[in-house]
Amino acid sequence: MRRIGVLTSGGDAPGMNAAIRAVVRKANYHGVEVYGIYHGYEGFIQGKMELLDLGSVGGIIQRGGTKLYSSRCAKFKEQKYQLQGIEKMKDAGIEGLIVIGGDGSFRGAYALADLGLKCIGVPATIDNDVPGTEYTIGFDTALNTVVNAVDKIRDTATSHENTFIIEVMGRHSGNIALWSGLAAGAESIIIPEEPYDIDEIIARIKRGEARRKKHSIIIVAEGVMPASELARMLKEKSGIDMRITVLGHIQRGGSPSAYDRVMASRFGAFAVELLLEGKTRRAVGIKNNQLYDYDLQEIFKTEQKNTSGLYTLSKELSI
Ligand code: ADP
Repeated sequence: MRRIGVLTSGGDAPGMNAAIRAVVRKANYHGVEVYGIYHGYEGFIQGKMELLDLGSVGGIIQRGGTKLYSSRCAKFKEQKYQLQGIEKMKDAGIEGLIVIGGDGSFRGAYALADLGLKCIGVPATIDNDVPGTEYTIGFDTALNTVVNAVDKIRDTATSHENTFIIEVMGRHSGNIALWSGLAAGAESIIIPEEPYDIDEIIARIKRGEARRKKHSIIIVAEGVMPASELARMLKEKSGIDMRITVLGHIQRGGSPSAYDRVMASRFGAFAVELLLEGKTRRAVGIKNNQLYDYDLQEIFKTEQKNTSGLYTLSKELSI
């Protein structure tokens, strides 16, 4: 293999740049050229790409977002556009593609691999919800962003003796809510994977008040309900007024943490190795700190991370 392509797709995640850098440097180390394809599958269809030399990925390891830009491209789901993109790649002499993104992007890579283009997926999404891997690039940075925000909100909540509801991202997954809630010492955490009980949340707030707690923090994953809806339900049953913060897109930005830079470097370099071994329709995964590759078909399985251990712990520690 003499020339490969790399693109970033779907929701961006801190560490995508570090992964691009790793792909370019590792491939160059093996004498393979890398073309950066702009705007995800949108640019793939149009053949919008540029040669990335060693210097072009200098000074980006610490930058959030993605140098190659990202997109959500609905028409890419149609085979005729997938074939159009593959033709553009053939014309440019590109023999393999590394797709950095979440499970939606992996579905696209799966389709391309089935049409004959060698494809490897690198999991990158702040939600940490890609089936087949314990970790996705960006999760650690997003968690730190949320925890910093919750710490600040707790300061003001304490001063005013308020109860705050903080809504965090995660699509259908409660990973960000659960991990950040545990790390920030939230009184209640509401995630899609575990049932919740409004009466119990109210009882927790009241128990806290009874022992003169100055504040209460509730973290709700966006996949369960909006913070405003939860505030309405709690107010209706208990009469307590809640303050609301929706953290929104700050969770997707920022300089990647050291951990995400290391993981992105490992994932990106490993993806190049897989392509050079002639592998296709595979994704990079990690478990117990060991990298491995797995069939992209696994993303079609509905797999939920086991949350019960951490969830129970969070309840035990926030009585
Ligand atoms: P993420 O990769 O972060 O999960 P999306 O779910 O938005 O983000 O997917 C990113 C892009 O991947 C979509 O805009 C689309 O171009 C492509 N994609 C998603 N699902 C499929 C599919 N079933 N077949 C082909 N391409 C898909």
